[in-house]
Amino acid sequence: MYKPKKTILTAGPSITSKEIDYVLDAVKNGWNFHFNDYVEKFEQAFAKYLGVKHAMTTSSGTGALHLSLLAMGIGEGDEVILPEISAVASANVVTYVRAKPIFVDVEKDTWCIDPQSFRKAITKKTKAVMPVHIYGHPANMGEINKIAKESGLFVLEDACPSLGATFEGKKTGSLGDMAAFSFQGAKIVVTGEGGMLVTNNSKLFEKAAYIADLGRDRKRGSFWHTLIGYKYKMSNLQAALGLGQLERVESLIKRKRRIFEWYYKKLGSIEGLSMNTEKPWSRNVYWMSSIVIDRKLSITRDEFMKELKSRMIDTRPFFFPFSMLPMYKTNVDNPVAYHVGLKGVNLPSGVNLTKEEVDYISAQIIDILNKNSL
Ligand SMILES: *Cc1c(COP(=O)(O)O)cnc(C)c1O
Repeated sequence: MYKPKKTILTAGPSITSKEIDYVLDAVKNGWNFHFNDYVEKFEQAFAKYLGVKHAMTTSSGTGALHLSLLAMGIGEGDEVILPEISAVASANVVTYVRAKPIFVDVEKDTWCIDPQSFRKAITKKTKAVMPVHIYGHPANMGEINKIAKESGLFVLEDACPSLGATFEGKKTGSLGDMAAFSFQGAKIVVTGEGGMLVTNNSKLFEKAAYIADLGRDRKRGSFWHTLIGYKYKMSNLQAALGLGQLERVESLIKRKRRIFEWYYKKLGSIEGLSMNTEKPWSRNVYWMSSIVIDRKLSITRDEFMKELKSRMIDTRPFFFPFSMLPMYKTNVDNPVAYHVGLKGVNLPSGVNLTKEEVDYISAQIIDILNKNSL
């Protein structure tokens, strides 16, 4: 039986000579008149891949989300509805603009925002909804857009982990008013740290670009600023890496999907275990192959993960429900989010993972479940 020599990690990129060539070129030549060449190429290729009008590189997914809310003019006294379960950035950016994040429940199978919970949470103060395409599965954008339109709300997609995922054949990031992607080191396409803001709305894009460019008034010259803006830029070096990665994105997604299939074959029919889903209207990119432990065990989720760690398998817990965290503590009733958030585990999902490793991991999971079932 196969045994790993070192701990199998949850993520890890695939870097080929293409990326290395681009980055070397940027290091050697990407200065002075060429300081922005890869940034422009990366933005253009990204917009084309998604099928959107505008794309702007940022220093992180968080930065892209923050800029989007600023461009929408959301601020003090406003409410933004988002799912209980996401990376902390999704809630933080709402707080950055002095608006209030309102946490609603998620769906049992997609783990994305539940459209009915969203509808119920709308008040006079609601200005926007932020569906999160969590772990690579798109939120139900048909319902969400419909409800948002009825109430005149902006839709900001947190597409940070879902590059290449589709809803009814359209890519995530092209489905709302604005969207943010992340290229942080664990994501599908990596630039070390980095992000992208995208939109089809030219007005919102220009506003976001102005805020992101330190509030510079370009007509008046380089150093005339008319607003306290932000600096959320991506460097040309990172964009070179991003462009190389983007040119390989479909093959990276293929690997993510294959990894999930390997897991699913071994774990998909185990009782009391649920895994990522793929709705008929979607393409899941399976950023993180995951399990939710629905059955009663004699050990906690954290002990379960510790046991895997002792067998050389690194895992991540699902994101905790926001309303549990000290700075967002509120009394809410989001039972599905509390179940999956406290019972979910992200399995190793790096694109270089092998079938042998997945088979090993699956066998260890089954063994631990069997030994600790009540
Ligand atoms: C990764 C991620 C973010 C944050 O992206 P950064 O580039 O790390 O700022 C936000 N939301 C979700 C859902 C993510 O997965």
